[in-house]
Amino acid sequence: MKSEPFSLYIHIPYCISKCPYCDFNSHVVAQIPEDGYTDALLRELELYGGKDGWRGRTLQSIFFGGGTPSTFKPASIGKLLAWAAATFPIANDCEITMEANPGTVDAAYFPGYRDAGVNRISVGVQSFQPKLLKFLGRVHSAEEAKTALNIVKQSGFDNFSFDLIFANPGQSLADLDADLDSALEFQPPHLSAYNLTFEEGTPFHHEYRAGRMANLDEDTEIAMAELIDAKLGAAGLKRYEISNYARPWFHSLHNVNYWHSGDYLGLGAGAHSYRREADGVAGLRWNNEKSPAKYMAQVAATQQAEVEREIIDAHKAAAEFMFLGLRMTEGIRVETFRQRFGQTPREFYPQIDGWIDGELLIEQARFLRFTAKGLMLANSIFVHFM
Ligand code: SF4
Repeated sequence: MKSEPFSLYIHIPYCISKCPYCDFNSHVVAQIPEDGYTDALLRELELYGGKDGWRGRTLQSIFFGGGTPSTFKPASIGKLLAWAAATFPIANDCEITMEANPGTVDAAYFPGYRDAGVNRISVGVQSFQPKLLKFLGRVHSAEEAKTALNIVKQSGFDNFSFDLIFANPGQSLADLDADLDSALEFQPPHLSAYNLTFEEGTPFHHEYRAGRMANLDEDTEIAMAELIDAKLGAAGLKRYEISNYARPWFHSLHNVNYWHSGDYLGLGAGAHSYRREADGVAGLRWNNEKSPAKYMAQVAATQQAEVEREIIDAHKAAAEFMFLGLRMTEGIRVETFRQRFGQTPREFYPQIDGWIDGELLIEQARFLRFTAKGLMLANSIFVHFM
């Protein structure tokens, strides 16, 4: 029986409006079926609590993602956390994160989330500038974003994070500089900075395909990435993953588990799960029905909502280990790779030597990691593993 700790992801798929760049499994409905959806999550949780491969294992992190989890009342979040604690042992230092959207931050809810056991909040700010918020189709204003962050802090959450989106068409370096200044006023222990991408199926992608929206030029994007790194670094927020920055001890444990190819159980509409087999090499990934209504119906009928599964053989597991682990600035531990896959990364992927010669990767102190130059080109290297 497996005994290592694992992470739990709970997907709350509802939003009050759909942002035009978003390709997450998020839905706008006239009335959010909070009770029915919570019941379905509880039933799914109960099922996995009794299943081989999960039963008796300790929870090291729980993450409520979305969609917009802050559309749910503290009572529902509390019910789910109480049920999780009744189903699995919970580590004393279990990180319990909830995503919140400034447009839905109800001051009265946040002490309730904290009392329910949530100990980390991640706020989808994206920008503090009205013109960029408008462009991104966000429902909240810059003032509401600031109010939300103040509410989070005043509710006693010392561990919080927020997202910024940069490289928006028309955004200047000065715009980004102003956003970073506003961000740092809140002294966040963790911050994520994502560059805007045009994901297939979104209205932004449609505009992009039609030639009405374009990426910023490469030089400006690089200058923006350098500005973020320099400014956040000077404020004590060290880059530890391609898009994530943290003060010491404030890394997102939940996401680090993904980047270390650790096991996670995903509950809710469209949620993905991953579990390594007992040999520690190959694994299994599966995902749930995406439509919230169908998800609830399927769970009501069978207690689970799995619609697809994929066997991750040793070759694919090695590739995932590489491209997930290399996202982290510390890189991958060469010995961990060798123990798991029987060869060192350089033996498994001879092309690594070329990237080392080209100063994109470096092997140092038993870790293989990107150089600063390599991080800028990470995506073009990741495709070689896939
Ligand atoms: S609030 Fe977040 S999840 Fe919802 S539509 Fe916007 S980006 Fe997507």
